[in-house]
Amino acid sequence: MSAACSKGFSVKLDRFATIRLREGEALLKIGSDEALNYLFISHAHFDHLGKSDARRTLAVCSEETLLLSTLRGLEVKRAEQNPFILLDSGHILGSKALLVETDMGGILYTGDVNTSPVESIPRQRFPRVHTLIIESNYGRPSLVFPPRRQLIGEIVDYVSETVRKGRPMVLMGYPLGKSQHVQMVLDPVLQGVVETYVSPSIAEYNNVYRLFSVGIRGKKVFTPQSSELPDGSWALYYPNVSGRNAFMQLVKRKYGAVFISFSGRSLFNWYSEALGVDKAFPLSDHADFNGLMEIVRETSPERVFTVHGFPEEFSRELRRLGYDSKPIRPSMEASFRL
Ligand SMILES: [Zn+2]
Repeated sequence: MSAACSKGFSVKLDRFATIRLREGEALLKIGSDEALNYLFISHAHFDHLGKSDARRTLAVCSEETLLLSTLRGLEVKRAEQNPFILLDSGHILGSKALLVETDMGGILYTGDVNTSPVESIPRQRFPRVHTLIIESNYGRPSLVFPPRRQLIGEIVDYVSETVRKGRPMVLMGYPLGKSQHVQMVLDPVLQGVVETYVSPSIAEYNNVYRLFSVGIRGKKVFTPQSSELPDGSWALYYPNVSGRNAFMQLVKRKYGAVFISFSGRSLFNWYSEALGVDKAFPLSDHADFNGLMEIVRETSPERVFTVHGFPEEFSRELRRLGYDSKPIRPSMEASFRL
């Protein structure tokens, strides 16, 4: 057993579960509020930030996540040294998977993970482990994205055609991560061709990406209360809001803008209609079902715990393939021996 493990410790995985190692015993505890040594923050999306734990616990996270979490209102004290290995997960700037090494083998928690990431936010290959705790946001066999190269081609064609028609467009995506991903794809198509704008929140996260040398080109900041958009063709990067809200309806009426959304959720038939957009592309920062299976094969685990999204369905598939797998719901209370 490694030095860190022989002393025993507990680490909370984002918001949902704790790994406890003590005297050769390893437990995964869900719904537990026991005293913690460490809080692992895989990345700075709100559904992974544990507000109450952060103030009293040393955080284990990347420098990028530390800065982004602080910008999002979390008071974080980062551990200067910790017994863990962090691996790039390819999801957003600074996103990491956590590897805990023990005598029985590694325990890997993926956080949110992407197996077809954008070039400047890569994923590291994960090692073989004893226990895998994997996200399952797209853990249903039917949830498969088109090949990345094909999808990017379709996006570029659609946006270029919209520009040729002289139509302005609102490019909608989650302001941290997704919008930067879309800008990395479309900057070469749109910059210098039409005027480009970003919402204030997207501008703020763009600055952090640039701070860590991830290239996103500068754009004008558009604030609905105080900015004007010109007539003619332009592109506005904006958070994923309903195309039916009052501001978006005004933009539609006044400028005839085309609303384009970028989300893995657009795999679901209801998505475009529910969001009130003209076009939706399944550009995701998560692994699809095949990507999740790729990680399971890569890590060759003896046990798999699935969390987020479709944990029951993904676990069922894994059991069908012969894996020992159990789903985890963040709301449940349970302990599992690892
Ligand atoms: Zn995320």
